[in-house]
Amino acid sequence: MENFSWNAVLDNLKNSLDIDTFEGWITHIHYDSISGVTLTLTAPSQFIKNWIINNYQNLIIKAAQQQSSKISNLIINIRSFDTPLTQEELQTSKKTTNTHIITPKDAFHDISFKLDPKYTFDNFVVGKPNEFAYAAAKRIASDKTVSFNPLFIYGGVGLGKTHLMHSIAWHITKNNPERKFLYLSAEKFMHLFIQALRDKSILDFKQIFRTTDVLMIDDFQFISGKEQTQEEFFHSFNSLMEQGKQIILSADKAPSNLLQIEERIMSRLNAGLVADIHATNYELRIGILESKVKQLKLKIPEDVIKFLASSITSNVRELEGALAMINFTHVEMRKKIDLEMAMEAISEIVKSNNKVITIDQIQKAICDNFSLKFSDILSNKRTKNISHPRQIGMYLAKKLTSLSFADIGKKFGGKDHSTVLYAADKIEKAIACDPELEKEVNLLERILKNQ
Ligand code: ADP
Ligand code: MG
Repeated sequence: MENFSWNAVLDNLKNSLDIDTFEGWITHIHYDSISGVTLTLTAPSQFIKNWIINNYQNLIIKAAQQQSSKISNLIINIRSFDTPLTQEELQTSKKTTNTHIITPKDAFHDISFKLDPKYTFDNFVVGKPNEFAYAAAKRIASDKTVSFNPLFIYGGVGLGKTHLMHSIAWHITKNNPERKFLYLSAEKFMHLFIQALRDKSILDFKQIFRTTDVLMIDDFQFISGKEQTQEEFFHSFNSLMEQGKQIILSADKAPSNLLQIEERIMSRLNAGLVADIHATNYELRIGILESKVKQLKLKIPEDVIKFLASSITSNVRELEGALAMINFTHVEMRKKIDLEMAMEAISEIVKSNNKVITIDQIQKAICDNFSLKFSDILSNKRTKNISHPRQIGMYLAKKLTSLSFADIGKKFGGKDHSTVLYAADKIEKAIACDPELEKEVNLLERILKNQ
């Protein structure tokens, strides 16, 4: 077809999708040909192909119709990583901004969670309760050869497991960029596995998880009782171990205390290096508070720091919450930071920590805040003024309630779990690089907690 321009289709898609979606998915597909009413594209894996077909098929056809109204059908073929691109395709991909040639590494990055730039070894305050886990993490991140395998980090909520996992990944990215790593939660591992089963792309799945250099799975306790996922994990685990690849896991309990985990997995976990993070002590809390105060460029009197360190003893996340609350009260309500103000701010936190937030409250808050009708956020409407608030709602539901992706999807008008997973992921990434959005979402959270 003479006048058909794939670049024009890409421009069109770029305008109708947000940038994350465009870069995360659309740039991975390439133009192949047009024959009759059928547009043929290529994707680097079954996984990406299925995702595109499930989520963006109609949009792509519509965009292509603007170039050639005849097009009504889309076929996506899989291109293996080693098939070289044709000269023509190379030209197209060079000309198109944001389009790049797929390497296996790109495919890995699609699966990995985005790393939080704040979660580095440098920002991790070390004290007696966490020094062993810190040393183990640092050692594993720096070693070129695998000496301890797997590394299993465990400890209670909010004590820095995820922070250490991200730190390892950052360290590897900076110092050994050629090492492929995968970092994801056990929950995401399970969902990808289920999706691969459903989409018959299990070979792709196996290939991805068995060819990484470092596999990091956070919140491993999630796969308790999930027999088939454990089975698959066990095989990936063995395959990586045999190849001498590094495995790093985190969980809220020691391997032997994990419930409903197969014996054979448990014994393999115990055979590696098991490092626990203990509850914080007073000195560590002071250290962490001082470091966060510096990072946030706050001025907080010493007696307030001491007061916080002695009254908030549960975990580091709550210490951060207390600082955020004090900062908020100071900036938004123009209150001077002193002991009295701190006490008041903390009483809010104690109150809000005991509160159970429901998904109905979250949806109501989203409707109120964005002036939407309830039916809008339950609908399938994709216009940005509706889909964006809906995605924020899904993100908050994941963060503030204990519902699974699938349950949240049901409450949002029967969406499937992958829609929720995608939304939560997307908003989390967007918050990390958009301070305005971060403020908006924080405010919603505060409203919900103080209702
Ligand atoms: P977990 O994964 O164990 O539930 P996180 O790693 O998410 O906990 O930690 C909760 C918060 O506390 C994060 O913002 C993290 O940066 C912070 N944090 C935890 N431990 C430390 C530490 N030792 N130094 C600095 N920040 C910490
Ligand atoms: Mg965590």
